[in-house]
Amino acid sequence: MEYQKTLLSKAMIIPLLSMTAACHLEPERKVKELKIEVNGFSLVSAEGTRLNDCKEFEPTAQQIAHYFNRAYPVERKVMTTSRYTPCYATGSLKFDKKTGGTWTLYSSGVASFEFIRGDVVTLYYKDNQWFDPTACTYTLDKDEQCGSHSNTSSETRKETLAEPCQLETTSTPIWKCQEPTMLFINNTGLVDANRIKLNIFPKIEREKMDKVNGIVVHQTGGPSAQSAFDLYADEREKGAHFLIDKDGTIYQTASLYRMSKHVGRLQSRCFITKKCSATELQRATSLENIKSDAKKTQAVHDDEYKKNFPLRYPWSADAIGIEIVGMAQKENRNGKEKNIYEPVNEQQNAALKWLIEELKKTFHVSVSEIYRHPQIERKNESEASTATW
Ligand SMILES: [Zn+2]
Repeated sequence: MEYQKTLLSKAMIIPLLSMTAACHLEPERKVKELKIEVNGFSLVSAEGTRLNDCKEFEPTAQQIAHYFNRAYPVERKVMTTSRYTPCYATGSLKFDKKTGGTWTLYSSGVASFEFIRGDVVTLYYKDNQWFDPTACTYTLDKDEQCGSHSNTSSETRKETLAEPCQLETTSTPIWKCQEPTMLFINNTGLVDANRIKLNIFPKIEREKMDKVNGIVVHQTGGPSAQSAFDLYADEREKGAHFLIDKDGTIYQTASLYRMSKHVGRLQSRCFITKKCSATELQRATSLENIKSDAKKTQAVHDDEYKKNFPLRYPWSADAIGIEIVGMAQKENRNGKEKNIYEPVNEQQNAALKWLIEELKKTFHVSVSEIYRHPQIERKNESEASTATW
């Protein structure tokens, strides 16, 4: 019953409109089991009619579990006034063996939750991925979509993203949800997690990225997060999806459904790993023998570029880029001046480890497809050499 006490005390301190503050609350609950009774139903209006559009309100198990992991208590009148909609779904869920209840979830993001013991609480959460057929009937925030299905690439995402909830029985759908759940990514590719701060730079977002095959770890070469952000604000600049500051703060800087330019010209996977046919290796070796470094780098990349993953390394087109704030400074190594990146610090490595773990689970990326930048592109070898995960 600890859970209910927390909920009720929060109800008094969180006003509805302090959504930003609510987003940073550590979730104290995780849906373990979920049952969906009905989907896309409509309340009968005063005139006795039902809204047909409500059929389009079809939240998935993943979306519902995410909702109940994150929703916070609001005053009951929110359900009947500012976020009123006739479209709803019903079901039940368990947070653990003792705690759970039945729910009625409205497409506007309001829900009524009745605990097994009988207490009823009204919940609210805004950042949901489902289609809300009545979105235009209440005041929208500027980032909310109105009137149409905004998640056009939902089919692609179904393939890419792991579902934290698995269907256990099909007669009455009961979903078992994994603990811990994976990162929740909204329909514009932004992560919704307490540990990640959003600071998106549209200018570093490129073409659509439908598939994630790998993760590439970088160091910025600059002294601070701000110095990287200043460059990201410039259209010509390259960028990555995440940036880890000196104190371990993680920023998401680009949508995960968009490419960002963080890898330039690929090295030959065949030549480096020798895991390819004899003919392929012969061809790769001949390219490596080109005398001019510039020409060789370009020729090898042009050849790799035509290959499909995993014959080539993952790069900007299919890899998530993580930048770690860190300078490169001239050092004398064996009588030669070399630019050496500063060591990745403890907080940065802890943040990197957490982020990579979450991304691995969410996108099904194998640990063997996570690279330091110089492993896949001819680069200063000290870049991210001290990063660990
Ligand atoms: Zn790099």
